[in-house]
Amino acid sequence: MTSKNGEMLHLRGNALKQGEPVALPLVQSSMYHLPGAPDGLPTYGRVDNPTWQHLEHVLAHLENAPCLTFPSGMAAISAALFATVKAGSRLLIPSDGYYVTRVLADRFLFNLGILVTERPTTTFADGGFDGFDVVFVESPSNPGMDMMDLPAIASAVRAAGGITIADNTTLTPLGQRPLDMGIDIVVASDTKAMGGHSDLLMGHVASRNAQIMERVEEWRKVSGAIPGPHEAWLLHRGLETLDVRFDRMCGSAQVLAERFAEHPAVGQIRYPGLPDDPSYTLAKAQTTRFGFLLSITLGSEEKAETFINTCPMLRPATSFGGVHSSAERRARWGDDVDPAFIRLSVGCEPLEELWKAIEGSLNAL
Ligand SMILES: *Cc1c(COP(=O)(O)O)cnc(C)c1O
Repeated sequence: MTSKNGEMLHLRGNALKQGEPVALPLVQSSMYHLPGAPDGLPTYGRVDNPTWQHLEHVLAHLENAPCLTFPSGMAAISAALFATVKAGSRLLIPSDGYYVTRVLADRFLFNLGILVTERPTTTFADGGFDGFDVVFVESPSNPGMDMMDLPAIASAVRAAGGITIADNTTLTPLGQRPLDMGIDIVVASDTKAMGGHSDLLMGHVASRNAQIMERVEEWRKVSGAIPGPHEAWLLHRGLETLDVRFDRMCGSAQVLAERFAEHPAVGQIRYPGLPDDPSYTLAKAQTTRFGFLLSITLGSEEKAETFINTCPMLRPATSFGGVHSSAERRARWGDDVDPAFIRLSVGCEPLEELWKAIEGSLNAL
């Protein structure tokens, strides 16, 4: 698959009239000049905004599917779920995926009469999908880096009459295309690599099912979960360099993973691009890049903290996908992992400079 980034960069330019700005204008208006009948015109800032609409045009190009943007990844996930479940629906979610999705299900959807079942990523298909109305998947899982057989799950759920939603945050549409594997809805946090500069929160929903997208748009309009025009503008700017950033990040992650695997201070390493990683076979079949996230387990919680906090090229921070490499111990948020387990997001630093800093800190442990 080609990245389509070249076409993406010229989507706007090729439609410009003489004298129009080449860069995307930021429109902050809540009101539109509307004398007389407003038919077909933008009406109000909660419904229409030209900056989001252009961003959505670009995202739709990347996803090869209609797209709607939201003010965060969780707003996008909420929209996809509220658009597809109703009282009595049965929802299946991973027990080891992004934890806030589980909190949403347990603390809010459950109270509305939705029956929530959790299964681990590695055995997600065990038990089949009969009776589930909505099946939410995440592959690779964050933070465990386990993968699911997406085409098999998509077709089994469809055969059982359910809808699939895939959280594609960690790989972006440049690394994995769940809709092409039969998944009905993609959701993503664009706060991560899509924005890429750790200066915004955004998310999106993409689907080729027009009825679902109509419902998602209605949810956005009535819930008011709309993106700010400035964030939309920033995300659009970030997307212009996604291809180069993602390429650097994934390329560096592969080399770092190989070096971590050889380093005596590192116990376990997980990276789907290592041939002996449990996710390698599925990753090879389903992804175009192995991603920029990896995990390592060091000798103890103290060593892990020292490594994260002293390495001059790692920001000790939660979240991932920025131009600056970052790392954190996931156990501090209650993820079911070893206390010395570190999720590391590889950034855009030149590889050898980055490795030198990391190796120095590992050797000093
Ligand atoms: C960060 C993240 C989210 C939530 O996104 P926000 O933009 O923080 O709301 C959802 N899913 C995954 C996999 C994430 O990493």
